[in-house]
Amino acid sequence: MTADAPDDDRTSFADLGLRPELLRALSGLGYEEPTPIQREAIPPLTDGRDLLGQAATGTGKTAAFALPVLERIADGGRAERQPMALVLVPTRELAVQVSEAVHRYGRQIGARVLPIYGGQPIGRQLRVLEQGVDVVVATPGRAVDHLNRGTLKLEQLEVVVLDEADEMLDMGFAEDLDAILAEAPAQRQTVLFSATMPPRIDRLARQHLTDPVRITIGREQTEPGEAPRVRQSAYVVPRAHKPAALGRVLDVEAPTAAIVFCRTRDEVDQLTETLNGRGYRAESLHGGISQEQRDRVMARLRNGTADLLVATDVAARGLDVEQLTHVVNYNVPSAPESYVHRIGRVGRAGREGVAITLAEPREHGMLKTIERVTKQRIQMEKVPTIADLRARRLELTRAALHESLLEDDLEGFRVVVETLADEFDVMEVALAAVKLAHEASGAAADEEEIPDVVPRGDRRGGAGGSGEPRRERKPRRPTAGMTRLFVGAGRSAGIRPQDLVGAIAGEARLNGREIGAIEIADRFSLVEVPEGSAQQVISALRGASIKGRKVTVRRERDDPR
Ligand code: AMP
Repeated sequence: MTADAPDDDRTSFADLGLRPELLRALSGLGYEEPTPIQREAIPPLTDGRDLLGQAATGTGKTAAFALPVLERIADGGRAERQPMALVLVPTRELAVQVSEAVHRYGRQIGARVLPIYGGQPIGRQLRVLEQGVDVVVATPGRAVDHLNRGTLKLEQLEVVVLDEADEMLDMGFAEDLDAILAEAPAQRQTVLFSATMPPRIDRLARQHLTDPVRITIGREQTEPGEAPRVRQSAYVVPRAHKPAALGRVLDVEAPTAAIVFCRTRDEVDQLTETLNGRGYRAESLHGGISQEQRDRVMARLRNGTADLLVATDVAARGLDVEQLTHVVNYNVPSAPESYVHRIGRVGRAGREGVAITLAEPREHGMLKTIERVTKQRIQMEKVPTIADLRARRLELTRAALHESLLEDDLEGFRVVVETLADEFDVMEVALAAVKLAHEASGAAADEEEIPDVVPRGDRRGGAGGSGEPRRERKPRRPTAGMTRLFVGAGRSAGIRPQDLVGAIAGEARLNGREIGAIEIADRFSLVEVPEGSAQQVISALRGASIKGRKVTVRRERDDPR
């Protein structure tokens, strides 16, 4: 295994000529380098060219068109009230998403962004339009409504973006698009992104774009044999369930060593924390990590004290981890080439490699593109259910017992079985022993950290799961050897057991399994930690935040120790 520093020969956002405020915004969001579409689209767009881009969700296309738009806004912001850019999108969800993205990128240059879509009260839209906006992100229908009312004026438009144009045509917006584009100044820049390029899109482009630059992400086919032979599977999971889904998939796959790719630094940090909370030994690697930390992380992987590496592409570049069995894409990669590159890290030298991709429902199209480009199938799988997990864990216990039976060192236990056999059937004795062995493997504790799907058990202190902890009852003594800590945030702050486990495991470097009973009340929580680690946990949590807020942490008052 080698641990080189990330290469510096790739195009950076700064190389694309973006202004310092935008570079700061991108760095603040944890973006480490442009995606392929951004690398290709940003230079011609900042030169003012029209552009026809074939790119699906997940490629980073939003930033590809938004950053050049924001480049046009003068220092100190625009004084004009009418928008300089109009982004047309097929759905209200996308309108909200794109306008949030533009807002995040453009906050430092004071960009004023407004989403307008049907179903939202028009009054608020009118007020904001009246005050003045720079970028309007609209569904075509609602944009036409505003044009007809005279509340949206296009005279000062410099840029029109048609995002997911194929979807807009499929939804019957062709006439609306023509009407809107007819009102936009002829001198404008026009940008069209579409996941597919049917003839209707070509027609639309010929009609409204002038000498466009053409960009396609995912057209190049890899040479046969270039993509490695790796078992490839994907799970379509809504965003909110991704951490739990990943945990389950890892539980079932049981990788010896895996690398989990994330998009941004923040995502890397959060996921590492979550995974450590689930009892994995995960380490972060991203561009914000010093060479010294990087060396430490690599050493932990090498000597087996860590088994998961959570990393961005940039940080993982030049890293050759020999014992890697699994590559996990926590998101669909931004281009097929990046997918091929990532999965090339496993399946070397004839060993079996596994590549797992988690995709949000919207990213399904990108998976198809990857399959087409790599000419390899990605098997769609269902996230393992609790029942699958149980079966898998029982199988592990069975295998452990099998191994133990093959070893010849059981005689010392005969007396226990014989004594119990006077009172119970031997089968029952065996069952009880299997239960103990199974529980001792820590299987039960892990299961409870998955939200919602898991029956609430002792882990949450009995009362913690659904109702209030009954404070009128005599406070329960902490479990022997454990100290109970008071944490000044509870259910009303959205705290869940897994947040506490994540924070304690992540900040104080405790294994999730060392954490004892957790009770969550409305305004506070109680959590048991090993006595010897209590002070360390208190100090670590005092400097940290849980769910984005600083919280009080101390020993519980009625804990005499
Ligand atoms: P999009 O294809 O525009 O929907 O973007 C997909 C996701 O990638 C969004 O969550 C973006 O925040 C994220 N993203 C876009 N560009 C980058 C980048 N250069 N580095 C990391 N994440 C990015």
